[in-house]
Amino acid sequence: MTEKSDFDSPMLRTSLAQLDQVAARLRLDPDIHERLRHPKRALVVSIPVRMDDGKTAVFTGYRVHHNSVLGPTKGGLRYDPEVSLGEVSALAMLMSWKCSLMGLPYGGAKGGVRCDPRKLSLQERENLTRRYTAEIILMIGPDLDIPAPDMGTDEQTMAWMMDTYSMTQGRTVPGVVTGKPIIIGGSAGRREATGRGIVYVLYQAARSLGQELKGRRTVVQGFGNVGAVAARLLWNDGCLIAAVSDVKGAIWNPNGLDIRQLETHVAEAGTVVGFPGADAVSHTELLSLPCDVLIPAAIGSVIHKDNADRIKATIVAEGANAPTTPEADVILRERGVTVIPDILANAGGVVVSYFEWVQGLQYYFWRESEITARLQEVMTRSFNRVWALASKEGSDLRTAALMEGVSRVAEGYKVRGLYP
Ligand code: NAD
Repeated sequence: MTEKSDFDSPMLRTSLAQLDQVAARLRLDPDIHERLRHPKRALVVSIPVRMDDGKTAVFTGYRVHHNSVLGPTKGGLRYDPEVSLGEVSALAMLMSWKCSLMGLPYGGAKGGVRCDPRKLSLQERENLTRRYTAEIILMIGPDLDIPAPDMGTDEQTMAWMMDTYSMTQGRTVPGVVTGKPIIIGGSAGRREATGRGIVYVLYQAARSLGQELKGRRTVVQGFGNVGAVAARLLWNDGCLIAAVSDVKGAIWNPNGLDIRQLETHVAEAGTVVGFPGADAVSHTELLSLPCDVLIPAAIGSVIHKDNADRIKATIVAEGANAPTTPEADVILRERGVTVIPDILANAGGVVVSYFEWVQGLQYYFWRESEITARLQEVMTRSFNRVWALASKEGSDLRTAALMEGVSRVAEGYKVRGLYP
């Protein structure tokens, strides 16, 4: 794919540059390397939606399959005003490396609709989701491509997608999406999976660095599904959560926030802002507060060349996808900060999505304790493999994680050959 293609976007350029670097390190077959640079297929759709005022608005949606060499494709659906074909393609590629790294039998995919979900009513979101599903129906299915929630979408979105798909098939097909409500075949522990996975890799990182996590000061950017769960589990374990933020603002208490009380405040106020017993800080200040662990769990590119040298944490666990720019990565590496990369740190969500899919295909459901035990095993094993490879290669964890992820997909291409 050239930089001037229809897919062009800053995020895709970064993903391609990362792939090229890793391909050189792995001495990848140039033909396979070239195939990995292109998505397998991409669909752009118009989504006409009946709005509450009776008028019709037309939104643009995307679904991209990066590759399906190891199995059906898997990846979230994002509702965001800035989403583009290039961004969705980059995220689909990241999903390929993530699924491969975690040893899942999936290729990578991603979807997106250009919209601001906060400005849509429940009825409008349902209309949008159902029509988007109908427009991409040729691209999805339990053996083909399995969407899941991402930014701006949730369990309810997945329920509408599953229902729309099932209606066209004349039967209920739980395996077409993951991240569904439990009553229609969702998995116990799915909602907490990404935050929980972050906590498991953080423990492994601390252990590998000869550190203790308990009592350490942690800052969490983004108090949503990922960040709030990670904060709660770390707090339960005796870590000090010093600051958190959401889109409306950030709060800080160097002696630690009471996360249970904060959850109650957020449930009532809809934001972390105004929580008693904490001071307000700006979004910019949050990232440079004194702490040991930083968890960016909101949006991409928040750690960049202009703020990377102000980060005080010694461990950064990437809850969000692509929160660190390549320039910032270099600065953090030179400063000795351990960055646990997105494709490893936030992979708990797709791992439990895989468990949900397997349960849905078998109509046999596991207990939450089984899910968390299996998640812990996969996260710990993957972290240890990446840590060992980084030590052997003298590389950072991101390079090692990408090497692991890319090499397995490349191996799949090699043994399958080129059709026809
Ligand atoms: P979410 O919508 O539940 O929460 C996002 C949080 O970030 C909210 O608190 C929001 O207010 C906050 N936020 C948004 N913009 C912000 C800004 N500019 N500054 C500070 N805070 C801001 O989303 P989520 O599911 O928690 O996902 C968060 C990130 O994690 C995304 O990058 C997503 O792609 C990634 N991720 C999510 C999962 C998952 O299972 N949900 C899995 C892997 C990766």
